[in-house]
Amino acid sequence: MVAHSSDGLSATDPVTGGDVLVDARANLQEKLPLSSDSTQEGLEEPRIELPTVDAFRRAIPPHCFERDLFKSLRYLVQDFAALGLLYFALPVFEYFGILGYLAWNILMGVFGFALFVVGHDCLHGSFSDNQNLNDFIGHIAFSPLFSPYFPWQKSHKLHHAFTNHIDKDHGHVWVQDKDWEKMPLWKQLFNPMPFSGWLKWFPVYTLFGFCDGSHFWPYSSLFVRDSERVQCVVSTVCCVTCAYIALVVAGSYSNWFWYYWVPLSFFGCMLVIVTYLQHADEVAEVYEADEWSFVRGQTQTIDRLYGFGLDQTMHHITDGHVAHHFFNKIPHYHLIEATDGIKKVLEPLYETQYGYKYQVNYDFFVRFLWYNIKLDYLVHKTKGILQFRSTLEEKAKAK
Ligand SMILES: [Zn+2]
Ligand SMILES: [Zn+2]
Repeated sequence: MVAHSSDGLSATDPVTGGDVLVDARANLQEKLPLSSDSTQEGLEEPRIELPTVDAFRRAIPPHCFERDLFKSLRYLVQDFAALGLLYFALPVFEYFGILGYLAWNILMGVFGFALFVVGHDCLHGSFSDNQNLNDFIGHIAFSPLFSPYFPWQKSHKLHHAFTNHIDKDHGHVWVQDKDWEKMPLWKQLFNPMPFSGWLKWFPVYTLFGFCDGSHFWPYSSLFVRDSERVQCVVSTVCCVTCAYIALVVAGSYSNWFWYYWVPLSFFGCMLVIVTYLQHADEVAEVYEADEWSFVRGQTQTIDRLYGFGLDQTMHHITDGHVAHHFFNKIPHYHLIEATDGIKKVLEPLYETQYGYKYQVNYDFFVRFLWYNIKLDYLVHKTKGILQFRSTLEEKAKAK
């Protein structure tokens, strides 16, 4: 049993609740079973103590929590400039035919995602000290990416507050064996399809709302208050306005599709790849309410180095994701320094399930495709703790 369950969470504001929770829990020492196998055998549970959130906070240099408005603005301008340059250089890419067009789309996707990371700082309040300014800039960054800012803020903070909670972490849906059996074949086959990465962000997640609720429809299940519904309308209008401006500039539906929507779908694919790979892995555990805790969930996050300059370009959201998950108030330009502090605190847990997780994944795209086939559904490892079916089968074979 963990020191505290998630029961008190629903009383908090889901938008700001994550941070409140972290603070409330900061001084609680987490005691977790080292292995629940012993529970099944009826033996006394060996326990492992997880560090408190405060222990992580103390290990990170205080300046990492400081926001620098001008630095943040510089990254915003840099990413818009890169996207502008890519539009400027489009004829050069098109000179090389379909391959050139493909390369252009990939770069648009990467730099689009970099811009998204800057907007992501805004929604966490780590862009500047002024949240009104953050919300304004957040709309500037998100709206051209057809990503409604306020709804993203709501759903994304739920992901942070309930990371690897089987029922409440909906960024990428955790599928259990009992759900898998009931799924129609087309649903089982959707994830393994190579093109699914292009469709999951839009329309599957943000428009259809699978399964956080639609980010565009003010009466979707994502929103509980009227003020949130108004925010949804504001952000949606900003997105539609940007798409309309793109249509006017493009001059035809065909141009709009090939030079606005297709590169946008590559951005969506990049977003899906990154968000999936930071949490889905062979070693990751997922917890039911009684076993879940904030720290325990965050320790299952994986830092991945993509290489090819992508980590720098995408503002280290890939190889600094663990630090980001513990403290989402740290601006992206301090994540790597903060990661050193996180590593030190997790070092004594290296041999356990809760050590710092890091992988060099130059093969990130193939890995994404492969994991979507291999990591099909979760099964119970022990009571309240789940892991991917394939991992447990491999472990059983190795015995
Ligand atoms: Zn995440
Ligand atoms: Zn975040």
